[in-house]
Parts: sequence; structure tokens; C-alpha cells
Amino acid sequence: LYGSQRLNSKGFNIAIQSEWQPLAEQRQTFMHHQWQAGPLINGKPLLDKNVEPVVSPYNFDDKVGLVSWATDEQVTKAVQVAYDNWASWNITPVSERAACLQRVADLLEANMAELIALCHREAGKTIQDSIDETREAVDFCRYYGLLGQQMFGAEQVMTGPTGESNHLYWQGRGVFVCISPWNFPLAIFMGQVVAALVSGNTVIAKPAEQTSLIAYRAVELLLQAGIPSNVIQFLPGDGATIGAKLVADERIGGVVFTGSTQTAQAINRTLAARKGAIIPFIAETGGQNAMIVDSTALPEQVVRDVVQSAFASAGQRCSALRVLFVQQDVAPRILQLLAGAMAELKVGDPSALSTDVGPVIDSDARQLLIRHIEQMQQEAEVIAKGALPSAQKGHFVAPVAFKINSMAQLEKENFGPILHVVTYAAQALDQLLEQINQAGYGLTLGIHTRNEATAEYIDRRVRIGNVYINRNQIGAVVGVQPFGGQGLSGTGPKAGGPHYLYRFATERTRTVNT
Ligand code: GLU
Repeated sequence: LYGSQRLNSKGFNIAIQSEWQPLAEQRQTFMHHQWQAGPLINGKPLLDKNVEPVVSPYNFDDKVGLVSWATDEQVTKAVQVAYDNWASWNITPVSERAACLQRVADLLEANMAELIALCHREAGKTIQDSIDETREAVDFCRYYGLLGQQMFGAEQVMTGPTGESNHLYWQGRGVFVCISPWNFPLAIFMGQVVAALVSGNTVIAKPAEQTSLIAYRAVELLLQAGIPSNVIQFLPGDGATIGAKLVADERIGGVVFTGSTQTAQAINRTLAARKGAIIPFIAETGGQNAMIVDSTALPEQVVRDVVQSAFASAGQRCSALRVLFVQQDVAPRILQLLAGAMAELKVGDPSALSTDVGPVIDSDARQLLIRHIEQMQQEAEVIAKGALPSAQKGHFVAPVAFKINSMAQLEKENFGPILHVVTYAAQALDQLLEQINQAGYGLTLGIHTRNEATAEYIDRRVRIGNVYINRNQIGAVVGVQPFGGQGLSGTGPKAGGPHYLYRFATERTRTVNT
């Protein structure tokens, strides 16, 4: 029922042809369409204030639509609507809530061509990434629908010596604020929202500023699927103002956030300082993700997986590979192959089937990456570089790999197609693991070795949420590879995993003297 998301470990552009052909024609209808988005409060679209155009990150001439940013008053109003309507949604049987999620999944599938066009045009996603994105959104709906039904469907009878009737059960926490990122503008947006809804919360969804149009379409589909309009409120706007105001509000019952570590820390501080209840905060943040390649690894397989992990989605995944550790003995061969593979990467129009790497999301993101590349050029050796498209009307960054001395040289996560390579001597493995743990992040780690004992040795010593052995380290599959990190990378519980929904709900015990 779920698991339709493609397994990404098989290579770039796998299976695209057969899946893509039927959608390609339908997508054309949406390649010139213009969308409109704005706050949706009580089901009413508010499209007239603070209107701004949305321009595609890969083609500045492409006007994707218009967004109206939420005002302060609208934020206050949305919270009130969500707050007032929680009680009735919370007592709506979970079977009904879960059935809505299954209908949302059907609607996502029925509207896939449009959503794919939005993924290209608003978020700069390649065809493969756009297909994966829509499927992951479908998977989240189906998986959390099933899980919600299983977890919250029946009360648990607690037997014991008290001679009373004791029941343990779950209910929603109240108003959940969902703050989602632009790099998974549909999948993570939908995943957060439906997790909160099925667990019995009303929702205020605040999408990343860069991808409000696709999020708005997602909310339209939620409403079409039968989620009552007083249960989901949508507020597009700037995180620093709208987001901050939302999380400071005493009426909210929980926050789920995916984005940068710095923003998560800021939200955490706001939650700690605000009056009112102590509420859960679920954060999924960045990573300084490494891959360790020892001398027994298969070079071709390593290079394929490095290229995917570091450069797919233009490196704009929190799971993406940032630091490749290669054992000295095999480094020359692997780095030579890597340079060859990177020279082949096609950077450009993400809506074209032959493109491997699309643009980065916006000019700020590009500037940050360019600054880092310039700094690296001063202090590190360039191992390989991809080429930029000839006519550039987008925020493109050519993939690049630098040889550095130590992971400690990197101050922060660089969210784009930049790879750093460190060579190591076999006897330095423990030091290297120490470096990885010291970095403080703990999201993904790749291990390439044909020595099972080495894989186990590493796996047991790192503080990392998702470890991938002899494959790439991106594209966790919902319900199969629960995803999320530790330390600076997030709070857990893992998205797409069996424990995720518990954090959105609260336990109650009822004791009856019989
Ligand atoms: N779940 C995605 C993956 O496994 C990453 C999510 C993110 O970048 O926020 O690649």
C-alpha cells in the first residue's frame, strides 16, 4: 500500500523512461500554467494582500505564479480557528481521519503531472526528483493513515490487581504548527501535516517561503479529500516573522520543523521562553554527512554512490554526502574515476530528461555556496568540477570536489553540490570516527567496504541516525527506512517510522471503579 517511492540505490535515472512517458504529455499542460497561493483560513483563500511574483530558480523568465504573504492579523486569526476547532477534530474517529489520508494519497496520484510541473518550476527539481517527491508524499499519507489507525484505533486495556477497569489511550495535543522546507516542498510538507492530522491535532501549516505554491495545492487537495476547512489553516510567509509569531503563541500544542539547525535552535529558544504549556518540538535539521570508503570497496560502485549522494538534488538534501573519507591506498583510483564521472554530469534545465543536476533554490543559497567555493579554492585542492550550462538564467552551481585535510576544516553544512574529500591511513580509522562524532551532527553515514567486520565496527561507534552500507546515503523510503538524526541533526522521532506519530499525541489513562 505504501512503498511506492522509488528505491534510490539503483542509480541515476533508473526506470524513468517507463514511468515518465505517460506523465510527460500531461505535464506539458502545466509547463506554462500560473498558480496562485495565499493564506487559507477556514477554507477561504486570501489572495489580495502582500502579493509577490514567483520566478523559477532555473529560468528567471518563467513566471510560476503569485503568492500573497500572510499578515500578522491573519496569523492570529488562523491560530484562533485552529484552537477553537481542535476539540471536535480530536473526537472525530481515527478511522475517519485515516480515511481522509488515503483519499489525499489518491488525489496526489491523480494530480501527479501538475505536481511534477510545480516541482520543476517552483523548486527546480529534476524529473526523477519530482517523481520521487510526489511518490514520497503519497507514501507518507498511506503509511501514516495505516499507522494512525493501528496506534490510535483502540484503547489498550491495562490489566492488574486493582480490581478496577483501566484503559490507556491517545489523543491529539491541540494545535500543531508544521514548518516545512523548500527542498521537499510536497513530501515533507504533506508528511508533517498528515501526521499531525491523523493523530488528532488541528494544523497550521507554514511552508518555506520559496515553495508556497506547491504547498497551497497540497492544502487544496487535503480539503478536497475531506479534511474540514476549520482543521487545517495555511499561512505562507517569512519564517523569521510569521514562523516566530506562531511558535511564540501560547495556544499552540506542538511544533514540527524541518530545516536548518540554526532555525531549530531559535525555535527551541522561543518555545522555552514562552508562557504556557511545555510542548513537544520535533526537529529534523542538517548534517555534516560522511562516507567512509576502505581499500576493499568496489571503486565503480563507490563512485556511482558518491555522485548520487553528493550531487543528486543539487546536493540540497539534509542527507547528502558532504565529506568523503577514502583510504589512502585506493584514493588515486577512486578520485580519478570520480573526476571522470563528475565531468559527465549534466547541469541545467531540471524539466529535461537528460539533466542530472538542477539549480539551487535561490540567489541567497547560491551566494553562500559560491562564497564557500571561493574560500575552498584558497585552502584546498580542486579534485574535479562539473560544467555549468552555457546559457544561464538560473541559480546554477557546478558540482565541485575539494581535497581537504580534515573534517574540522568545515565550519558548517554547505547545502549544495560541493563535496569534500579526505584521505586516511587504515590505522587512523578510530580518529576519523572521533572526528565524525565530534562534528556534533548525526544524520547519515555511508560505509563502503567488503569487509563485514569493518562495517560493523564503524556502525557501532558512530552517533548517526541513518547508516547506509555499500549504497548511496539519500532517499530514505517511507515505512522502510525511518529517517532522522541525532545531536545537531534533530530530535527524532524518525519520519516515516513506526514511532513518529506518538510525539504528535498524548497519552491518557482512564480508571473506573467497577
Ligand atoms: N529524507 C530525505 C532523504 O533521505 C532527506 C530529507 C531532507 O533533506 O530534509 O534523502
